[in-house]
Amino acid sequence: MYGLLLQIVSFLFFFLIVVIYFSKKRINTIETKLYSLLLVINIIGILLDLASTSLALFDRSNILLKPISKLYLIYLIGISLLFVYYTIFISYSQRFSIGKKHFYGLLAIICVLAGICFFLPLYNFSEGNIVYTYGASTTFTKIVGAISYSIMLFCIIRNYKIVRFKKYLPLLAFVLLGVLGAFIQMVYPEMLVITFTITYVTFAMYFTIENPDMRLIEQLNLARDQAEKANNAKTEFLSNMSHEIRTPLNAIVGFSQALLEEDIPDTAKEEVKDIMMASDNLLEIVNGILDISKIEANKLEIINTEYQLNKIIKELVTLTKTRIGEKPIEFRTSFDPSTPEVLYGDHTRLKQIVLNILTNAAKYTKEGFIEFKVSSVIKEGICRLIISVEDSGIGIKPEKIDNLFTKFDRLEVEKTITIEGTGLGLAITKKLVDLMHGKIVVQSVYGKGSKFTVALDQKIVATKAPVEIEEAKMEIEQLTFEGKRILVVDDNKVNLKVAMRLLKSYKVDVEVIDNGFEAIEKIKNKESYDIILMDDMMPKMSGTETLQKLKEIEDFHIPVISLTANAISGMREKYLNLGFNDYLSKPIEKTELNRILTKFLK
Ligand code: ADP
Repeated sequence: MYGLLLQIVSFLFFFLIVVIYFSKKRINTIETKLYSLLLVINIIGILLDLASTSLALFDRSNILLKPISKLYLIYLIGISLLFVYYTIFISYSQRFSIGKKHFYGLLAIICVLAGICFFLPLYNFSEGNIVYTYGASTTFTKIVGAISYSIMLFCIIRNYKIVRFKKYLPLLAFVLLGVLGAFIQMVYPEMLVITFTITYVTFAMYFTIENPDMRLIEQLNLARDQAEKANNAKTEFLSNMSHEIRTPLNAIVGFSQALLEEDIPDTAKEEVKDIMMASDNLLEIVNGILDISKIEANKLEIINTEYQLNKIIKELVTLTKTRIGEKPIEFRTSFDPSTPEVLYGDHTRLKQIVLNILTNAAKYTKEGFIEFKVSSVIKEGICRLIISVEDSGIGIKPEKIDNLFTKFDRLEVEKTITIEGTGLGLAITKKLVDLMHGKIVVQSVYGKGSKFTVALDQKIVATKAPVEIEEAKMEIEQLTFEGKRILVVDDNKVNLKVAMRLLKSYKVDVEVIDNGFEAIEKIKNKESYDIILMDDMMPKMSGTETLQKLKEIEDFHIPVISLTANAISGMREKYLNLGFNDYLSKPIEKTELNRILTKFLK
């Protein structure tokens, strides 16, 4: 009677596992399919066991007893072979492909063996409450069981190092408990241990089969990795593309700048200015695409450094004035004098944010005014910069304001079609403001004008900036550095020509070479220069490598400026860290060149 109760409990318990397993999401692999089959067959086995025990208890003479006993033997053959197949699968699937074909082969073998077992004679006799079976059918099942155990043991012993041992544990338990169970059952036939053993082992396997959840997670991780790789490839492609575009642009901007200094007719000068304006726009687009791809790949970093706010504002004012050009617009600026002068934050990104808004104001305003205001609120060492740009431009319809920060979204295309733009500017601006934990607010009256306000927190370094020599005149006067020697190293011939042309107006002595080896040779031969401009991306030996080698030369103290078309943010810091004295990005801007030459040649 206890045996029957135990069987009922075991059935209920196992039934629960089956429900849990089949109600969960899983990936269909051979292993999980095999496990599903094991579960189903096992539950049939328990039912058969239950039926035969009940019959033995309550109706020993029943004619059903014999077929049920036979089916039970067939179940034992089936489950043993399934365990063998599972053992072979986990032992050898990494080395050989074990697939559907083998599985169908196994089913065929099970059918044949089951057929044999079914037709072999089986006898019952009873003693007390127990039904004993004997005969060829039972012996045949025992032989199949013994062979199965041997194969499993062989596989486990041969492969236990290869397969994660954990996976073998239930199988080992199956083999050992199976043998033990068979003995116990022989000595104490009323104990019914075999089905328990199988049930217990199948249950334990729930935790060692390639966990369905883990597989799912693995697959998800794989998919994420692939998406990340694709995204990285895109970012890399865009970064390369921007680099490639910058190189010819360098030539266009460089030669145009040089042409402007020549004595050419006014109409030609105007056209050259247009070329430069178009190149600037192209550069802006390239940078925008690069930025947005970096933001999307979560690669855009905020690099905080100390900076002087008034210098940034001055630059912004100059750039906006150029952008407004001849338009009848009054450009008003107001700067709160109580704002601390030296701050700590990402000034490049700050400048980019404000420049985007100022440029838009200049682009979308035909006449009237643009007001650029900078004020601040100070609290506990933090300066909250409040920067606003108000214009009397075309304005934005209230229902369009939500789309303002979506990438590639240009509003009022019919009205603004003649105004150049990609629809990336404000999308980038918003992302940058978010990255810097700031806020951006837009107020606008359609047809009247708009006001963009940005609030950004920056750390305060000093309230007053150190007094410096006025730099403004650098932009107006043509600087000259007669007698100074400059070495330019760049593998690209056109770039060398551009550099020569740009440097010509400074009346310096320029020497150009197209590789780092020659530069090292020249320095070793005691040739002296006042400054070296060095391209970084050179074949065979990069600018950085050349610099390292130069620094190994005794007495080397010539300032080396990295010259690169790689204008991703943070590059300046990167090159300074690498040991360069400064950084000049291509296309070379005249004001930047002025700054560097003044800094190192004066
Ligand atoms: P774009 O490159 O087109 O200027 P932005 O992302 O900078 O892209 O701006 C998106 C759109 O928002 C613009 O196309 C324009 O329609 C509108 N917009 C932006 N700033 C202003 C402004 N100051 N006045 C009116 N419309 C503006």
